[in-house]
Amino acid sequence: MLISISLLLCSCQAKLPVNVPELSDGNPTTCFVGTEGVNKVIFDEQYTVPIQSYKIYSSGETPVHDPPAWTLKGSYDGKNWVVVDERKDQTFCSRYQEILCSITKPSNYKQYMLEAATAVGDTLVLGDVVLFDENLNAGWEDFKYPEIDYEVIDPETKGAAIYEDLVQNPDEYIRYHARKVAEILFYSAKDTMNDVQKVHYTLKDYDGVSAKSGNPANTSIVYSTQHIEKSANESLYKLDFETRGVLFHELVHAYQFEPKGIGSYSTNKTFWACIEGLADAVRAQAGYFDMSTRYAASLLGHGKQLIKE
Ligand SMILES: [Zn+2]
Repeated sequence: MLISISLLLCSCQAKLPVNVPELSDGNPTTCFVGTEGVNKVIFDEQYTVPIQSYKIYSSGETPVHDPPAWTLKGSYDGKNWVVVDERKDQTFCSRYQEILCSITKPSNYKQYMLEAATAVGDTLVLGDVVLFDENLNAGWEDFKYPEIDYEVIDPETKGAAIYEDLVQNPDEYIRYHARKVAEILFYSAKDTMNDVQKVHYTLKDYDGVSAKSGNPANTSIVYSTQHIEKSANESLYKLDFETRGVLFHELVHAYQFEPKGIGSYSTNKTFWACIEGLADAVRAQAGYFDMSTRYAASLLGHGKQLIKE
């Protein structure tokens, strides 16, 4: 009996997961389902340049399956491992959410290993792990995040409850997207940009999608609980895709510059096309543009409500 147990342990250790396809396919709906306790996953692409940053994505499972802490190790020979980066007290603000980490001392490691566990002994589930040979935080460390005022006007709706399943920390979720929008619109956090101080984000029960109002310093975005419910009918991932896409679009309106000297949003079609075209272009650039819902998003989402802007 003892022998068979030790054999079992040996064979487990010898078979660490290597280059798990579900972690590297850029699709957080396919995930790595590990075990309880510490999981080790090896990335062995025989890297030729130093990794300078990496992203870990939460899965679509409940947050108890997320890792609150992890260690990234590197190796030159696949035998000796050194700690490259260590994180503690991490919380994913939503499902399918990335956490971007910079590596302070990059080196020419050939292989990497991620060690991670859940907080209280649940099975570890990871959406994706992506390694980058550039520091994706470069130029954005000083980004001025807006203050978020999150409000649920209709908390009794099904949509509001579903939103909680998707987004665990609404303030952080919106701040994350504000920076992503700025990263697409500008070269660095030092560029001249609108001073978006406060975003008032509201979940409301109405027949529509989303709308933005207010000036850049104090921007208000409303998101429809009916639209949340409809999108979630397909899947939680569809809801995530749609929620991020809509948020990208509306946040562009807070950060974008407006055309000068050609009238206004409601009087000039070129003005309108500039404003809406850029918002959809950024959404597309971010990877959250669904051609099949383009008109629904542009017309239902805007129509008369957005003419305020
Ligand atoms: Zn718009």
